[in-house]
Amino acid sequence: MEKTVLLVEDEPDVVDLLRFHLRRARFKVLVATTGAEGLASIRSERPDLVILDIMLPGMSGIEVCRALRTDPQTATIPVLMLTAKGEAADRVKGLETGADDYVTKPFSPKEVVLRAQGLLRRQQSASEQAALVDFDGISLDKDNLVARVDGERMELTTTEFRLLTAFINNRSKTLTRDMLLRDVWGYASSADSRTVDTHMRRLREKLGSHAHRLETIRGEGYRLKPKPGGPE
Ligand code: CA
Repeated sequence: MEKTVLLVEDEPDVVDLLRFHLRRARFKVLVATTGAEGLASIRSERPDLVILDIMLPGMSGIEVCRALRTDPQTATIPVLMLTAKGEAADRVKGLETGADDYVTKPFSPKEVVLRAQGLLRRQQSASEQAALVDFDGISLDKDNLVARVDGERMELTTTEFRLLTAFINNRSKTLTRDMLLRDVWGYASSADSRTVDTHMRRLREKLGSHAHRLETIRGEGYRLKPKPGGPE
C-alpha cells in the first residue's frame, strides 16, 4: 500500500530534492514549510512517516516532535529528523524528544529514502506482531480472530475480520476499493467493487454504536475514524 510521507522543511531546494527521490521510491509526499503547518498536517493527515527539519520558522522541529509524541493519536508515527552538520546538540535533543532516527545535512537523498523505508519496515513489523490492538473501543485479537466493540464480542465472517483488520492497521486513512480488493480478497486487478460495498455495509451494521466511525469517502473509498471527542 502506498505510504504517505510528510516532509516538514522550509528550504525549497531541499524540499524539491527529497520530494523527487521520495516519489521515485513510490511514496506519496506531503509538504509543510513551517512547524505549525507541519503539526496541523500531522494531525489531519496522519502520515505514515514524518521527515522533520529542526530549523524551521516559528515552531522548531524539536517542538513539533514533542507535540506529536504527547498526542496519543500521533505518538507512534515514526519521525526522521534532519539536523545541521556539526550540531551534535540538535541530534541529542532530537532523539530525546522522540525522533526515531536522524540524518545530518548535507545528506544524500538516497540515504534519506533508505532510512525512511527502514523506519516504516520496523513500524510495520511491530504492528503486525501486536496480536491485540484497540482503536478507540474497537479491538482485535488477531491470534484468536476475535473482534470486540466496547468489550462485546462481534460475530464476524473471516472476510469481515480481515476488512476490519485493514482499517485498524490503517487507522484514519482512506482505503480505496481497489486496495481492499487487493489486500483483503487478494485480487490483482479491480474486480467488482460492489463486493466491497456489500461487505462494508454488513461490517458497519455489526459495529453498532461505532457504525458511524466507518465512513464512506465519496469517490474514494472508506475509512475508520477515531471516536469523536477523543484526544485529537
Ligand atoms: Ca530548515
